[in-house]
Amino acid sequence: MNIKTFDSRPVALPIKKIVKENETTNTYVFEYFLGSKPGQFVMMWIPGIDEKPFSVAFDDGNEFWLTICNVGGSTAELFKMKEGDKVGIRGPFGTAYKFDEGDHLALVAGGYGAAPMYNVANEAVKKGCKVEFLVGARSENLLLYTHKVLGLGSNVKLHISTDDGSAGFKGFITQVLEEVLEKEKVNKVFTCGPEVMMQAVGKVADAADRDCYLSMEKYMKCGIGVCGQCTIDDTGVLACQDGPVMNYDDVKDLPEFGKYHRDSVGKKKHY
Ligand SMILES: Cc1cc2nc3c(=O)[nH]c(=O)nc-3n(C[C@H](O)[C@H](O)[C@H](O)COP(=O)(O)OP(=O)(O)OC[C@H]3O[C@@H](n4cnc5c(N)ncnc54)[C@H](O)[C@@H]3O)c2cc1C
Repeated sequence: MNIKTFDSRPVALPIKKIVKENETTNTYVFEYFLGSKPGQFVMMWIPGIDEKPFSVAFDDGNEFWLTICNVGGSTAELFKMKEGDKVGIRGPFGTAYKFDEGDHLALVAGGYGAAPMYNVANEAVKKGCKVEFLVGARSENLLLYTHKVLGLGSNVKLHISTDDGSAGFKGFITQVLEEVLEKEKVNKVFTCGPEVMMQAVGKVADAADRDCYLSMEKYMKCGIGVCGQCTIDDTGVLACQDGPVMNYDDVKDLPEFGKYHRDSVGKKKHY
């Protein structure tokens, strides 16, 4: 299909393929011209259940991928669906990670954040960028996208950390980042993962005097700046429109950053 979706109307798409990444994570492949940039997200409507935002993991104009963890109500229902079943897709929405020809990037991923970071790496190597790809997980079996990253060629170097030492460096990925920023002439740090991890990444990048961008994932309902659900406290900034990709300098002093997020009814949930 080669039709561009109108921003606020979902297009019904069959799931072309489901790839099991690990025990809690699947990648959903759709054949469709999405026209997204790395860092942007789509709203996926699971018929009769809910509509949720998911970051784009790959988009070559013919197909796009969403890598999704089974964590709760909607995702549990999605995980019951089969290839050929249809979902509704709106988007792409939000801001993107920006890079220029010749940039040397450090991409720091935690959890499903490995998928949008892979999207950046895949597009950045096409522009002649060098990439340090840093991915952390609790243990080896939870690491995502490492094989795909290794397939991106010699301009991409993979760095792994696990909490239990079952693969790569034993410890946090921020410790690996400190070393990488000491040794390599990285000029931009991009990160996507749990907010507390991104906060730590921002601090390391700041200390090493590198520009840092992250993905502010707030509870989103409409994705198009109408409902106000994803407003960032004390700013009025909407994470769905002014984000999700934002500069660390613009968020580091916000009262909620790294401390809490708001649930579906706006209640504070501390990390
Ligand atoms: C811009 C953006 C991109 C995203 N990309 C992805 C992606 O690529 N892959 C992926 O698996 N998920 C992604 N998410 C999260 C996803 O949208 C859902 O929130 C998640 O799948 C939980 O939905 P659920 O209904 O299954 O669980 P729920 O029953 O709603 O929640 C399960 C648990 O997750 C928490 N939770 C739900 N939503 C959020 C949120 N936005 N922030 C923090 N905690 C939350 C709940 O408090 C609860 O503890 C993204 C979110 C945003 C805002």
